[in-house]
Amino acid sequence: MLNFTVGPVMSTKEIREIGGEQIPYFRTPEFSKIMLDNEALLKEFFKADEDSRIVFLTASGTGAMDCAVQNTLNQNDNVLIVNGGSFGHRFVEICQNYEIPYTEIICEPGCNITAEQLDKIDGSKYTALLVNVDETSTGVLYDINLLSKFCKKYNLFFIVDSISSFLCDSFNMKELGVNLVLTGSQKALALAPGISLICIDQRAIERVNKAKHVSYYFDIKKYLVNGERGQTPFTPAVGILLQLNKRLHMIKDKGGVDAEVAEAAAKAKYFRDHIKDLPFEICSNSLSNAVTPLHPIREGVSAHKIFEIIKDEYGVYVCPNGGEFKDSIFRIGHIGDLSYDDYDKLIEIFKDLNKNHRI
Ligand SMILES: *Cc1c(COP(=O)(O)O)cnc(C)c1O
Repeated sequence: MLNFTVGPVMSTKEIREIGGEQIPYFRTPEFSKIMLDNEALLKEFFKADEDSRIVFLTASGTGAMDCAVQNTLNQNDNVLIVNGGSFGHRFVEICQNYEIPYTEIICEPGCNITAEQLDKIDGSKYTALLVNVDETSTGVLYDINLLSKFCKKYNLFFIVDSISSFLCDSFNMKELGVNLVLTGSQKALALAPGISLICIDQRAIERVNKAKHVSYYFDIKKYLVNGERGQTPFTPAVGILLQLNKRLHMIKDKGGVDAEVAEAAAKAKYFRDHIKDLPFEICSNSLSNAVTPLHPIREGVSAHKIFEIIKDEYGVYVCPNGGEFKDSIFRIGHIGDLSYDDYDKLIEIFKDLNKNHRI
């Protein structure tokens, strides 16, 4: 199989082998040790403060978004949400769900946030800011430095969904003043879906400890207490957490998070450089290394149809879009275990289809 989507993505042989093994019992010192090691490596890769903590949830990424909001925000907050696509919209819906007052900063599809937009906002009216640093639906990487300065200026509690950006774009939690950052197992971590991770600093922990009316299962307080001894309050996706440990060590052995980001950047550049003669437009003015959004420019060609043709005729997955961009945009991911040869194969498929005017 060849899979160029943004998740689930291709896992390496080493990771798949662990997936084929029996799942061990987990209330043991051996498993606790692995979990404490997972926590230390993740903090290192997020470039988090020493006294930050990692929360391991058995949930997809949206579970972590939901958990983050309900544990750190409440009806006394007034929140800014950067909304330029379906994941920004998801934060809006989560805030609506908990009746948390919010204002959207709307970004046009494919457009980065600008200083002019932020200059118009009186930050002193707000208490927190939420952003999906890579809005995966459009492939836009928001200017995190600009948002960081804004949050620092107004002392806003800063929540970042880096689900598709983690390990792809450079990020320094401590320097950016991010209080809570989250990601999921099936994006650049390239594991099976099922685990999501939240990294929280001391300011976030204070909010967590004061939170009321949090759901029983997603109460971060319980995870922090259990996490001190390398455990989770409930049975986690044990197998994925074992795979996570292997994956984190593989990253570390290859030079750590910066090397991993450089590799994603190189693959993204390679792909983008090699499709310049094809009838596609890259429809974003600020790209994440995680994904390239492509708009077919030939009259009458549907992006979703391209996804179907490549899946059905070549057995290869590219990433379709839903909603309003279903027919106008599809995406190519640069995450997971993909080689330059794999990209060459995809480019050959595009060339083949282009000959017959099918893209
Ligand atoms: C993938 C993704 C999510 C989470 O989606 P799930 O399907 O719940 O794992 C959230 N935010 C962003 C930016 C994503 O790319």
